[in-house]
Amino acid sequence: MRDIGTDILDAIRSVVGRGDIALHEPSLTGIEKQFVIDCIESTFVSSVGEYVGKFERLLEEFTGIRHAIAVVNGTAALHAALRIAGVERDDEVFIPALSFVATANAVRYLGAVPHFLDSNEKTLGLDPEALKDRLCSIAEKTSYGYRNRTTGRRLRALVPMHTYGHPCELDELLSITREYKLKMVEDAAESLGSFYKGKHTGGFGEMGILSFNGNKIVTTGGGGAILTNDAEMASVARHLTTTAKIAHSWSFEHDKVGYNYRMPNLNAALGCGQMQRLPSFLSMKKDLKRKYAEAFEAIDGVRLVEQPADCSSNYWLQTLILSAPLSHQLERVLKMCCDAGLRVRPSWTLLSELKPYAGCPAAPLPVAQSLAQRIINIPSSVGLL
Ligand SMILES: *Cc1c(COP(=O)(O)O)cnc(C)c1O
Repeated sequence: MRDIGTDILDAIRSVVGRGDIALHEPSLTGIEKQFVIDCIESTFVSSVGEYVGKFERLLEEFTGIRHAIAVVNGTAALHAALRIAGVERDDEVFIPALSFVATANAVRYLGAVPHFLDSNEKTLGLDPEALKDRLCSIAEKTSYGYRNRTTGRRLRALVPMHTYGHPCELDELLSITREYKLKMVEDAAESLGSFYKGKHTGGFGEMGILSFNGNKIVTTGGGGAILTNDAEMASVARHLTTTAKIAHSWSFEHDKVGYNYRMPNLNAALGCGQMQRLPSFLSMKKDLKRKYAEAFEAIDGVRLVEQPADCSSNYWLQTLILSAPLSHQLERVLKMCCDAGLRVRPSWTLLSELKPYAGCPAAPLPVAQSLAQRIINIPSSVGLL
């Protein structure tokens, strides 16, 4: 009887070679340095300068989404996007329990309440069936849309998230949001370069967001972007994220409580360099995935996550899923890999189990709970090949 820990360790090693291997390192070996130096020499390193606009145009071109507004990080992008989509205090917002804490935090910053939903075993994203079932059991029609009949709160929005870069079932989710008058704000923080039925993630709902944190597929050091196809919402986003200042040569007029969320030019310079390399990053990610697929093919009890049907994933983080009978081995496998210098990590603790969110409404979460015991992210840097 082979040991699953040894099998996994050997398979990863056969792809990544020897030595200490990070989970995900940025690759900054292209034109990035030149752009950053140019930015420093221009002295426009902060809120004014040409790179921010250039970076936004590059994002629009690449994604085919009409408007991109660059901001300081993905969490800030989500906070602003939810506000612009119309989320208000005491609204309920559906989010997957299996996500990074930022998804819930952004909802909470607005005084709204996250309502946790289950995930799909295949896509790892919010399951449309789970949303539908939940709505059938709790939604009550009102003059303005729907409310939660047990809490009395307005059901306002849905935030699907494309886990590790794999698009979730957007068509099905969109049709439910239309039926129940929910706004959709896509947390596409992990899915720059991922397409659903030929269209880039983040452009399906009212708004979407990206993150350019150091561990994402493209980094600006820290950064994020708000995406929307709606010109009016884009202009509100631009205004709100730049302190709601009315453009004027000297006067300081602000017509709302805005945010200082604009991305600094220095970060955007780095981002412009990274965007040139995104196509090559995507092809390297796919090559890495092919190598892992070969290495894991003969190993029983574990599968490598594949892009969903009709999707092209960015394969940001390569992901193993242990079979259910092996879930009790998770800790041991993680420890074996870490001890051997391979940085692997499990999924997030479910948001519904985190202290600040323990009292929030949650649908049954059997799949998310099971996945949380079985997910292992393995080294995924583009530099590995
Ligand atoms: C990275 C990430 C964010 C937040 O992005 P930051 O830029 O780190 O604020 C939000 N949601 C998900 C799912 C993420 O992975």
